[in-house]
Amino acid sequence: MKKTVLVSGGAGFIGSHVTVELIQAGYEVVVADNMSNCDLTCFEGVKKITGRDDIPFEKTDFCDAAAADALFAKYPIDAVIHFAAFKAVGESVAKPVMYYKNNLGSFLNVLEAAGAHGCHNVLFSSSATVYGEPDVVPVTERSPRKPATSPYGATKQMCEDILRDTVRATAGTPGEIKGILLRYFNPIGAHPSALIGELPRGVPNNLVPFITQTAIGKRECLSIFGNDYPTPDGTCQRDYIDIVDLAKAHVCAVARMMDGKMTEGCEVYNIGTGRPVSVLELVNAFQKVNGLKLNYRFAPRREGDVTAIWADPSLANKVLGWKAGRSVEDTLAAAWAWEKHLAGK
Ligand code: UDP
Repeated sequence: MKKTVLVSGGAGFIGSHVTVELIQAGYEVVVADNMSNCDLTCFEGVKKITGRDDIPFEKTDFCDAAAADALFAKYPIDAVIHFAAFKAVGESVAKPVMYYKNNLGSFLNVLEAAGAHGCHNVLFSSSATVYGEPDVVPVTERSPRKPATSPYGATKQMCEDILRDTVRATAGTPGEIKGILLRYFNPIGAHPSALIGELPRGVPNNLVPFITQTAIGKRECLSIFGNDYPTPDGTCQRDYIDIVDLAKAHVCAVARMMDGKMTEGCEVYNIGTGRPVSVLELVNAFQKVNGLKLNYRFAPRREGDVTAIWADPSLANKVLGWKAGRSVEDTLAAAWAWEKHLAGK
């Protein structure tokens, strides 16, 4: 019998790509989302890509404990992948209570409902933000977590700890929970079909949507935040990971959980390419692969940005049997195709 995976926040950017990969790998998926930061565009795209018109969709707010419980009562959920969270760093600084309430509250309800309904596998979508400004790059999973620089980052660290504690407390009991923390670096791009991708509301915070919106004419000019960093070209370095590659990592992780292959109750993996790319390099690659010129200027540093961070992904490569495959050029071509699709071009 097919295993069922609940994807909370499944109508969003990462959740929709993960849903596609899970379905293509043979899982049943229940998509749940409160639609607070998305519409049905990506879910419709998921149905088209997979050719499945019958994917269950639930408009659920996981901050509502009864609603979370009802969802686990309704479906035979074998594993849950928890994405449902607010994710804007700046907004989290301005509205900390809203962030703690939403990001912690929803995850606590998911864990409680999973425990109550015999779901033993929980995958939490974490972030490289937990490493803060690293002393040594690339970072491994054993690199220290630094004090969070925003409430958003703090919620990622706290949810990691909550899952770890839950795993420890339930070990060996009938309600045993196994956990996997995937720490994403910078997910970018879109599905090669151009039917799903990133859909920021308002002015994008992230680099690639800002680039594509500038290229299409929605924004006048990209500001590159800082060109005086101690990096080869003065701009920040990140590990940009293709969204489809990232989605496939979830399939590997879910399979490891379900097949009983985990060697620890709670495992953690960096999901990145291992390749540092500067903001300027990314902008240049975007221009080159798509044959266009981007309007950009250098602007002051953005508060809270780390200088350089990239992953050592060797643990995920070895243990999950997963590796990032797409080139940054292909990824940027896909991001541009998605922006054009949105514009009806
Ligand atoms: N960035 C930029 N201009 C923008 C948005 C981002 O120069 O309009 C830079 C930002 O300073 C960082 C990199 O792009 O060095 C990635 O930023 P993003 O917000 O996409 O991800 P983060 O690494 O902050 O999670």
